[in-house]
Amino acid sequence: MRKGTLFVVTAPSGAGKTTLLEMLLGSVPMLAYSVSVTTRAPREGEVDGKSYHFTTREEFERLVAAGEFLEHATVYGHLYGTRRPVIEEALASGSDVILDIDVRGALQVMESRYPAVFVYILPPSLAELERRLRGRKTDAEEVIRRRLSLAREEMGYAERYDYAVVNDVLEEAFADLKAIILAERRRVGRNVEAIRAIREGGGGR
Ligand code: ADP
Ligand code: 5GP
Repeated sequence: MRKGTLFVVTAPSGAGKTTLLEMLLGSVPMLAYSVSVTTRAPREGEVDGKSYHFTTREEFERLVAAGEFLEHATVYGHLYGTRRPVIEEALASGSDVILDIDVRGALQVMESRYPAVFVYILPPSLAELERRLRGRKTDAEEVIRRRLSLAREEMGYAERYDYAVVNDVLEEAFADLKAIILAERRRVGRNVEAIRAIREGGGGR
């Protein structure tokens, strides 16, 4: 069976990544979300095993020592990581997988040479990013200020990614993201078996 593609998606907090990924996962088949392990406490409404696997620092460090993580990083004081066996299993089943990870995690994946497509989501401006962070009403003032100062620094890394999507009008950004995933699925290198089967008289109807 054809192996899936790993998509690494990064955005400064408040750019709309969660909103966009939910839309995407609800409309593109064979696309799985990689549930990260984190030491952060669950937010209201978050279910263990769905948005994250919530764990202790001790358990997280045990996983690091065991070499379980494809990448891991400290974000806003908490540890987050992607378990390599979990994404490998999903990719082997033919599903594409989305990693929703920060810049430092994405750089680790780039350095590891693990085959992946890197997508950076930007807000239309810093002023709009601030409005969204405030409008979301999930973070304290101090947290918002910290996120804004980090955002500028982190957006500098967008140039190392393969694709940049500006989330101005939500529906347009969603269409862009979907187009990226569907176009990547049509790469010749990912369809060699299917092309061969058609040439050799097999294939579908
Ligand atoms: P992130 O996951 O990147 O931190 P969220 O998806 O939580 O961001 O979005 C931050 C806030 O901005 C939310 O209140 C969301 O409803 C809003 N938002 C997302 N995309 C847009 C958009 N294109 N236009 C206006 N508001 C948006
Ligand atoms: P939040 O706590 O708001 O859900 O996420 C904070 C940040 O951590 C987001 O930028 C998110 O992309 C990032 N993040 C979530 N999971 C992982 C992970 O497994 N690895 C890395 N490096 N970052 C992660």
